[in-house]
This record gives sequence, C-alpha cells and structure tokens, in this order.
Amino acid sequence: DRTVVLITGCSSGIGLHLALRLASDPSQSFKVYATLRDLTAQGPLLEAAQARGCPPGSLETLQLDVRDADSIADARAHVTEGRVDVLVCNAGRGLVGPLEAHREGAVDSVLDVNLAGTVRMMQAFLPDMKRRRSGRILVTGSLGGLIGLPFNAVYCASKFAIEGLCESLAVVLQSFGVHVSVIECGPVRTAFPEKLEDGLGGILDRADAETRDLFSRYLSHFEQTFLEAAQDPKEVVEVFLQALRAPRPALRYFTTEHFHPLIKLRFSDPSSSSYVAAEHQRVFGDQATEGFEGTDCGEAEAGAGDLGPSELGAPLATPQ
Ligand code: NAD
Repeated sequence: DRTVVLITGCSSGIGLHLALRLASDPSQSFKVYATLRDLTAQGPLLEAAQARGCPPGSLETLQLDVRDADSIADARAHVTEGRVDVLVCNAGRGLVGPLEAHREGAVDSVLDVNLAGTVRMMQAFLPDMKRRRSGRILVTGSLGGLIGLPFNAVYCASKFAIEGLCESLAVVLQSFGVHVSVIECGPVRTAFPEKLEDGLGGILDRADAETRDLFSRYLSHFEQTFLEAAQDPKEVVEVFLQALRAPRPALRYFTTEHFHPLIKLRFSDPSSSSYVAAEHQRVFGDQATEGFEGTDCGEAEAGAGDLGPSELGAPLATPQ
C-alpha cells in the first residue's frame, strides 16, 4: 500500500517542491494529494509534474483553503484511500513591517492562515490517526518561530505559536504512535516575499521616522542574509523526507545550521537579554542606545560567550 500524503499550500515554494519530490520518488511508494487554496493556480505544479515524469496516479490536486473548515472537510472526503498517513501543514503567509503599519485585517489574516489554519488541519486529520495509532504530521516551521526577528512580530507570533502547538501535542501523541515534527527553515528561495500579506512594510507613514529608518536597515540586512544563507526548496524538502522516513521522528528538524549560534544564544540565556542585544547589533549594526541597560547578569554573559563574531559575520554587542 502506498503512503498517502496530503500537503497544504502547493501552488508554489516548499509545498510544490515537496509534492513533486514525493510523487516522482523512484520507489513509487507515495500517493500525493497536493492541495491549493485556489485550484486555478495549479498550472506550474502540474507542468512541473509532467516534466518530472510523475507516474499517473501519483499526484492529485485538491482545493483546500486552511481558513475554511468546510473546504478542509471537502478535501478530506476526496481522499479515496480513506486515510492520510502523512499530513503536511505547510500553508503560510508572511507579514513584514513596523507593527503600527499593518493594515486592518492583516494581523487576523496571518494568524488565521498560519496558526488557526494549522490547528484546523490537525483537528480534521488527527482523530483518525489516533484511532489507527499511526500517522505523521509535518509542519513547516521557521527560524522566526524560534527567535524574534525584527519587523516580523506578528509572523513570529504565529510561528512561535506553532512551536507550542506541536510541542504540546507531541507529548500526548507519544501514547498513540503518532508523530508530529516541525521542519525549521531559514530563508528559502520561494514566492514567499511576493505573497506577503499587506505588501512590503504596510502603511509606512504610520510609523515614526526613526522606525522607518530602522526598517530600511532591516531590509538591507535581510537582503544580505538572503544572499548568504537562502536555501533552495529542493534542498529543504529533503529534510521533510528525513523526518518522514525516521523510525522515531524527532519533534524538530533543521534545514540549515547557519542560524544555530543565534538559536543557541537565545535559549542559553532565559532572560533573552543577550539575544536581544546581539540581534539588534546583527541587524542594525550599531549599539542600541536609549533604554539599553546592557546584559550584565552572569547567565547572559555565559550565553553570549557561545557566539563568536566569526559565526555571525558581524561584530557583536558582547556584554563585557
Ligand atoms: P510560498 O508563498 O511559495 O508558499 C506558501 C503557500 O501557502 C502558497 O502556495 C500559498 O498560496 C499558500 N497559502 C496561503 N494562504 C493559504 C490558505 N489560506 N490556504 C491554503 N494555502 C494557502 O512560500 P514558502 O516559502 O514555500 O512557504 C511555505 C511555508 O514555509 C510557510 O508556512 C512559511 O511560513 C514557511 N517558511 C518559509 C520561509 C522562506 O524563507 N520562504 C522560511 C521559513 C518558513
């Protein structure tokens, strides 16, 4: 019997590449339901499937909008095998800009897709997995779910929420032989920046001049990081396969080690003071001024010690 995989957000990016990778696997052991919010956007996926020679019946597209429980139920009813072995919660939207510049509705919309959408998918598919005492859920996680990235506050809130959601479920699911894994991605070359909720920045004149200046410095920093560290979706989807094949999958997988020093810094100092200072320095390249009290507690120093300037490619605000 083939492994039945259902993936959300397959019109582009990671979802599209994962669907293709599984449907064209030489083992021919996967049946992929590639779902899209808008089926009229399935052209690129279907063309790529043809070009890759996906065998007939290996890939089927279904309409599924994670914001709409009825649309999820309809998609589930179209799974002819009557079960989903691997659910991939991948649909997501970004929101970038000063908090005060986000348009009415943008915040709700991002939380609805990234967080409530993931919950809805799990509510629809988990009960059957628990009943069968088998199944895997892979969730596309983000560096922004592990550390607070400037000018991504609401996106980070949604992705931090995913971490809590999955970690909490993982504990209960130990009893059922069902596994949930978050695939933590750094920057990936996808349509993500073009599909940002609210465009780039939102209504910028709602923010003060200093914030706008910081935002433009963030954008250049982001561009630089993207050039240095962005991964190809093809590389990223191999990590999904690793999680999918592991006999006892872990809760978290990382597609890159590039950001490990920052993540370690964040978690080694529970006060997070050293992370906040280091991230300000990394992104804005100068010392924080007003309100910056330094990180003069022992724990903070121990944490910052893990992180050498060479690892971050920029001098750090080391709390000496
Ligand atoms: P992408 O924009 O190419 O793909 C996201 C997909 O989700 C798109 O196909 C989009 O149409 C779909 N989507 C949006 N709203 C939806 C809805 N309501 N219902 C169903 N589908 C919906 O970008 P991507 O980079 O492939 O993003 C996939 C996931 O990866 C997202 O969860 C994103 O947060 C995460 N991620 C991306 C990056 C990156 O740098 N690209 C980094 C870390 C994490």
